[in-house]
Amino acid sequence: MLIAANWKMHGDRAFLTAYFEGAAALCWPEAQTHLVFPPATLLERAAEAGTAVGMVAGAQAIHPARDGAHTGCLSAEQVAEAGARWALLGHSERRAQGETDLDVAAQLEAAARAGLRGLVCVGEGLAVREEGEAEAYVLGQLAAVLALPAPALDALGAIAYEPIWAIGTGRTATPELAQAMHRALRERLEAVGLGGLPLLYGGSVKPDNAKALLSQPDIDGVLVGGASLDITAFNAIARAANE
Ligand code: PEP
Repeated sequence: MLIAANWKMHGDRAFLTAYFEGAAALCWPEAQTHLVFPPATLLERAAEAGTAVGMVAGAQAIHPARDGAHTGCLSAEQVAEAGARWALLGHSERRAQGETDLDVAAQLEAAARAGLRGLVCVGEGLAVREEGEAEAYVLGQLAAVLALPAPALDALGAIAYEPIWAIGTGRTATPELAQAMHRALRERLEAVGLGGLPLLYGGSVKPDNAKALLSQPDIDGVLVGGASLDITAFNAIARAANE
């Protein structure tokens, strides 16, 4: 079970200190991996503080290139040196800034180069869902990644299905809707020998809906945005997985 916190553009040093102090005071289920994706300025500190409480730090985004004239960007090597072990790739908030499926695939190649695990996000917008095209759209996003040759594909650590209409809106996919998409993703991954890859759901996950989502057979974890900023709520979501 993989339980991941995406802080997005939230948090400062004081927040980070309080967060990990809070984490240390709480009980965390065993047999789970807890990931935290802080803003880049806090990555090094989060990697250090996370080690003490069994949380693994990751970068929210990476550039495909190793270095170069890419003002404001960070390479996989740079975030790895800062302590990242994972990288979020293709979050919808990044795709909305212009990242394409091919960019996401190139980022996974970069993650592999730097020894990072990639957590690739996929998900459809409301219009696509209403047109009945959600599954084809999401599988299309995945196809660009699955087309990579083996060394890059080995860095694929998990997929997060995050319907855009459910991110930060308070509107969660029903457990049945999420399960149906996860089943489709699982079948596609099984077809290429990756059926064991963890499939996370993301989109307004909260302590009160986590149990129903995590009890679905093909939901292996969650990627949590807003609710992950409250360590008590994030811990409650992690514990819901064991109920
Ligand atoms: C996210 O940022 O990946 C996310 C799912 O956000 P939220 O939980 O706030 O919907």
